[in-house]
Amino acid sequence: MIIVMKAKTPREDIDKLIKKLEQMDLGVHETVGENYSILGLIGDTSKFNKEQFESYESVEKVMRVQHPFKLASRLFHPEDTVVEVGGTKIGGDKLTIIAGPCSVETPEQMIEIARDVKEAGATLLRGGAYKPRSSPYSFQGLGEEGLKLLKKAKEETGLPIVTEAICLDTIDIVAKYSDVIQIGARNMQNFSLLKKAGRIGKPVLLKRGLSATIEEWLMAAEYIMSEGNENVILCERGIRTFETYTRNTLDLSAVPVIKEISHLPIIVDPSHATGKWKMVSPLSKGAIAVGADGLMIEVHNNPECALCDGPQSLKPSKFKQLMNELA
Ligand code: PEP
Ligand code: MN
Repeated sequence: MIIVMKAKTPREDIDKLIKKLEQMDLGVHETVGENYSILGLIGDTSKFNKEQFESYESVEKVMRVQHPFKLASRLFHPEDTVVEVGGTKIGGDKLTIIAGPCSVETPEQMIEIARDVKEAGATLLRGGAYKPRSSPYSFQGLGEEGLKLLKKAKEETGLPIVTEAICLDTIDIVAKYSDVIQIGARNMQNFSLLKKAGRIGKPVLLKRGLSATIEEWLMAAEYIMSEGNENVILCERGIRTFETYTRNTLDLSAVPVIKEISHLPIIVDPSHATGKWKMVSPLSKGAIAVGADGLMIEVHNNPECALCDGPQSLKPSKFKQLMNELA
């Protein structure tokens, strides 16, 4: 349920109404725009009498929210959310390019790639130190050692760091070194991890689950936001379908859907979506054409020998070419 207040309603009238709603055991989330104020109601609204509140002089209209997500809904927050990270903005009219290797491997690898993606125009640096691998026998990441290498790369290039937290045991250490905490596809419904990420308060890049509907994805965002952290960036990274030619199927339609029903920024990861480096360039362009706020692209200086996701990684020269074409 949301209550749209009439423009120029005096502050004290709004406060009085909020108090009344709180007495009804409802949480109230207020969004103040230039010319409007919206009260989003959270909690059990079954006893809420819509007509009664519509009769208030200061109330423009009362609307029932059809979706189960509230804080992530555009009705609660009509303007686009712009997330500020280390001097760069994600969302609004800025295009964000997050680039870097799938995994942090060695000091030389990390520094070289960081320099290359920075020179090509990337705005944030990615690299996994804790890797969620399908096999327990695959490379699991360097752990804190990897986080230290990311920090060094940040010191040298100035690029803020995006890196994944895979569990409650290590999320604090990931938060210490990162500017944006990534929650991966496999953890999109790890509700205790989402809540913890919400409480930490750093911006969160929330990837869509392997078989998650858009509604489930936004409910996952709601878990983070309901802990008081509104800085959530969504990342479409392909979903499971019957198609096997590509690693996943990139659901580009998610971008305009999210833009319509949510205010959160959305970026696209064509690397994990396709699993093939040759498809990264066309789908990057497609993603921007349909309105994505940015891209997350895997780049490796030696993809043939990468410890993870080499076949979908662009060489720095190809990444540079793509950046020029995008510009
Ligand atoms: C990644 O970004 O390195 C990753 C593991 O992605 P996803 O969670 O989308 O599979
Ligand atoms: Mn990867």
